[in-house]
Amino acid sequence: MSDTEKNKILPSTLYLVATPIGNLDDMTFRAVKTLTECDFIAAEDTRVTAKLLSAYEIKKPLVTYEEHTKRSAGEMILSRLKNGESCALVTDAGTPAISDPGEDLVRLCAENGINVVAVPGACAAVNALALSGLSTRRFVFEGFLEGKDNAKKERLNTLAGEDRSIIFYEAPHRLAETVAMMADAFGRDRKAAFCRELTKRNEEVLRFTLGDALTHFEKTEPRGEFVIVVDGRKDSGDAFWVNMTLPEHVLYYVDKMGLDKMSAVKAAAKDRGLPKNAVYKEFLNHENK
Ligand code: SAM
Repeated sequence: MSDTEKNKILPSTLYLVATPIGNLDDMTFRAVKTLTECDFIAAEDTRVTAKLLSAYEIKKPLVTYEEHTKRSAGEMILSRLKNGESCALVTDAGTPAISDPGEDLVRLCAENGINVVAVPGACAAVNALALSGLSTRRFVFEGFLEGKDNAKKERLNTLAGEDRSIIFYEAPHRLAETVAMMADAFGRDRKAAFCRELTKRNEEVLRFTLGDALTHFEKTEPRGEFVIVVDGRKDSGDAFWVNMTLPEHVLYYVDKMGLDKMSAVKAAAKDRGLPKNAVYKEFLNHENK
């Protein structure tokens, strides 16, 4: 099949169309073509998408598909797709379904036998990883840390033994707080790259240890959009605990090695290169659940 044939807009098909993450010129020819030729566009925020469409002189009916109304909107889009229409899904920026609405709509389409096609383009996570200067051979995507502080700390402690590069999204007003939690969980010497305002005029990549990043962001208020790429743990190798959560790791020492809880906490903290207090707190949180 030639590219021209492949790029024909098909009936009953959902197109996931990536849009720029800051630089309008990152719109691809195929994205413009798909938005121009599909029957309708589902957008996270129709005002944001209207601006993009106007820059490319595209006129197309818009419907909203966003987090809070995604169930009813998803059913409505599915029914139109089943009736033979083609739909392009876009979000405010980047690749739909990556820390953005879309995942549920793709699942719904897959469950109902509707064809889904990706029209690739910008994705902040991939850009940041490539720019990070850290290992790109193996990596994991965490996106935004979820929940309250305790849940975030627990998640970070679970990741302390991860030996692949770890990609996080974070809002500027929470950045300093998140870096402090990361320094506690991963240690202040762990390397990280802070990729700011990618593809925009003020694009910047700051490569620091987490300790130096803490000092930097205490002095310089974080502004703009950030992706944080944290280096994987370098010396965990094939350690027996790499796939255990922190509480599982402590309990391993209690149950299998017969240590008392405090000694088990100490041993797990030593394995992971973490402060004893942080491990103890996390373990208590788990026990009190
Ligand atoms: N779907 C998008 C993608 O493909 O990258 C991500 C959307 S998510 C709601 C928004 C987060 O992505 C921001 O909080 C920030 O962490 C990251 N991000 C988006 N654009 C960025 C940019 N230009 N520079 C740095 N980070 C960006």
